Amino acid sequence: MGKTVMDWIDQNEKKLIELSDQVWEYAEVAMEEYRSSSLLADYLEELGFKVERGVAEMPTAFVASYGKGKPVVGILGEYDALPGLSQEVDPEQKPIEKGAPGQGCGHNLFGVASLGAAAAVKEAIDQGKVKGTVRFYGCPAEETLTGKVYMVKAGLFEDVDISLAWHPGGINSMWIGSDQAMNSAKFRFYGRTAHAAGDPWNGRSALDAVELMNVGSNYLREHIITDARVHYVITNGGEAPNIVPDEAEVWYYVRAPKRHQVEEIYDRLVKIAEGAALMTETELEIDFLTGCYNSLHNHTVGDVLFEKLEEVGAPSFSEADKAFAEKVSESFKPKQKETAVSKYSSEAAEKLMEKPLCDIVIEPQGAGRVSGGSTDVADVSWVTPTAQFTTACNVLGAAGHSWQFTAAAGMGIGHKGMITAAKVLGLGALEFLNDEQLVDKARTEFKNAVKKNPYSSPLPKEAKPPVKKPK
Ligand SMILES: [Zn+2]
Repeated sequence: MGKTVMDWIDQNEKKLIELSDQVWEYAEVAMEEYRSSSLLADYLEELGFKVERGVAEMPTAFVASYGKGKPVVGILGEYDALPGLSQEVDPEQKPIEKGAPGQGCGHNLFGVASLGAAAAVKEAIDQGKVKGTVRFYGCPAEETLTGKVYMVKAGLFEDVDISLAWHPGGINSMWIGSDQAMNSAKFRFYGRTAHAAGDPWNGRSALDAVELMNVGSNYLREHIITDARVHYVITNGGEAPNIVPDEAEVWYYVRAPKRHQVEEIYDRLVKIAEGAALMTETELEIDFLTGCYNSLHNHTVGDVLFEKLEEVGAPSFSEADKAFAEKVSESFKPKQKETAVSKYSSEAAEKLMEKPLCDIVIEPQGAGRVSGGSTDVADVSWVTPTAQFTTACNVLGAAGHSWQFTAAAGMGIGHKGMITAAKVLGLGALEFLNDEQLVDKARTEFKNAVKKNPYSSPLPKEAKPPVKKPK
């Protein structure tokens, strides 16, 4: 049974790499993934999947299903790129186009490995080896933490029994801790223009309101939990010094280990913004962009995926891959690698320090801990049992969102990590399609975990996804 999945992926390796390289080349940022999502949706449709496009009111989101009845196993895929990370397949920094987007988080690999797994499971269904439904979720806009939050809100996971995810990373392992819940919002202030020297008393500065809000939030920092993070950028600070700005805007992220903590801190931030508006006699408008949960690792699902990762084994990198990685390693200080691996157990860290690429499987990491970042996979994990593993697709020690990662995601290193991930996901999905009791076990664990705090969408009821038109 597992052989069918492994064989299908081996036989179609070339095609999968081609699809991934195409998405890498498109490098479309959040909500602009028109070509990337069509490429993947068309391919699955050709294979016989039933494809629903434009789900959850997002033109670049889709769901592709195959098979019938229970259980339903969902496999998550992403494909959005990051602004400014354009890079050739080259171990030295060389943008294809300066300032253009690049796949600096390896989502080209993420989408295609998950698609490959779903297609391989279809093969097993066709051969009568398993029953049930396999579903590929084409999730846009992960980088802005939007896609899956809206997909969950639209009820697209309601009948999913198990959901599987992975992410390209530096190591072959699984993070069983959690990550940060988050809110993202823009605070816009409206004042009154005046000549900044001639008659400033007639003006009411929206920029003053932004600055006072920032002062307030910087004082707030001392009185929130240590693990929380509050960060901002001024997205509009006025036009010219001699005009009192009548419009200004600041964009905030609030992160904390638990959803309720984010909400509490965010409410205080809103009070600060209201205070700034009061002080400056300006009007405040809040544009709530998105929010997400902290992820909830399902151990039953995680154990299956990790077992399959051990079974498939780490990617075997070629000499050329290693040479490429050695060269990339020269672009950052050894200290950076030391810091990167220090979040793992000391035994793992010691092994990793000696290698440019992770060619071993590292035991699950992060029990009881919270990583710094956030992901919208978390929202899926609160509505259906979910686990996410990583495979080595990036040079050890290279940053997460970086030109180095863009380079690795477009060549042998990323390709090998991707094929490994496709096999792990495919085998994992089969296991659940084949074992009703295992599904029940994961669902019981899930139900107990969410019993006290059932999921409630971070988005306001009337929220609409920030859709963009095709370019
Ligand atoms: Zn990512």
